[in-house]
Amino acid sequence: MSDMPQLIDPFNRAINYLRVSVTDRCDFRCVYCMSENMNFLPKKELLTLEELDRLCSAFVSQGVRKIRITGGEPLVRRGIMGFFESMSRHLDSGKLAELTLTTNGSQLRKYAADLARFGVRRINVSLDTLDEAKFAKITRWGRLKQVLDGIDAAQQAGLRVKINMVAVKGTNDDELFDIVEWCAARDMDLTFIEVMPMGDIDTVERLDQFWSLKDVEAELAGRYSLTDLAENSGGPARYKRIEDTGQKIGFITPLSHNFCEACNRVRLTCTGQLFQCLGQEGEFDLRQILRDNPSDDLPVITKIHEAISFKPKGHDFDYSRQSVGGKMSRHMSHTGG
Ligand code: SAM
Ligand code: SF4
Repeated sequence: MSDMPQLIDPFNRAINYLRVSVTDRCDFRCVYCMSENMNFLPKKELLTLEELDRLCSAFVSQGVRKIRITGGEPLVRRGIMGFFESMSRHLDSGKLAELTLTTNGSQLRKYAADLARFGVRRINVSLDTLDEAKFAKITRWGRLKQVLDGIDAAQQAGLRVKINMVAVKGTNDDELFDIVEWCAARDMDLTFIEVMPMGDIDTVERLDQFWSLKDVEAELAGRYSLTDLAENSGGPARYKRIEDTGQKIGFITPLSHNFCEACNRVRLTCTGQLFQCLGQEGEFDLRQILRDNPSDDLPVITKIHEAISFKPKGHDFDYSRQSVGGKMSRHMSHTGG
């Protein structure tokens, strides 16, 4: 692969990981992510699945080795399995090392087998609680049983499942050990995520939701023996192993820990905006260039290189002064979590 083109940013970081939001819509309304009455984008604003394929393929041609599909809820986008099927050609050719997905799990019963068939090997499923009533409260529209059933289907299809749990103060802080042990019993790794200031949501203040992962880690260390893992995915996660269960535990701590030194990723929204950083407002419009050049990918590839040449050093999130600093105007579901 050494003769492949590469995307290198101003801080000499190779950008080989693309996260793609394929829709801003969702069948849930998680309290930290969306307001109950969201205004979604008009359909014409969205990239078509063919346009998404063209853009993702342009990134692959420039050395991107891993693509994560996210949203909104990616599996509610109509026709999305056709997109996975089409993208699997890059896995077959060896240009793409991994095609993966972050999902709320609600549609996995329907799609897990197809995902496996199209070359997906590992998925992240977001699950913040094992309590039905709390699940309904956090997701507003979700049903726990459907998600648990989806996780079963994914494991039956041979997909490796990692659980993502957002740490929400006053909500799932009494379930820490239950969730760790539930995941261990199912041979699933687990990553904790701190609430990030993305987009306006009603009902709750961000600072009220913020449960620092320093506290989560201290609680875990009080019960288990934790070992640091050197592993670095180029993102905001740090990893530890719980020796008692053998599980790998991730901590995504944008607010209490800086993670940008080894950043290897950029994000593409469902409208074709390229964000060089989740925690900065800077963006590049790739949709117009794509639509202006229906049969020539060079202009879009040139623009991708230009965008990477402006990738900032790090994010601006900051809760340290007891106020929410660096708050982003867009929702996580737009940029893709
Ligand atoms: N719908 C899919 C899901 O929930 O997995 C994919 C998109 S969702 C935006 C991706 C991840 O972002 C989820 O794990 C979710 O819990 C997390 N998330 C959403 N809003 C967040 C916020 N404000 N702070 C931290 N994590 C958030
Ligand atoms: Fe939907 Fe995922 Fe946001 Fe929850 S976190 S509302 S499942 S996009």
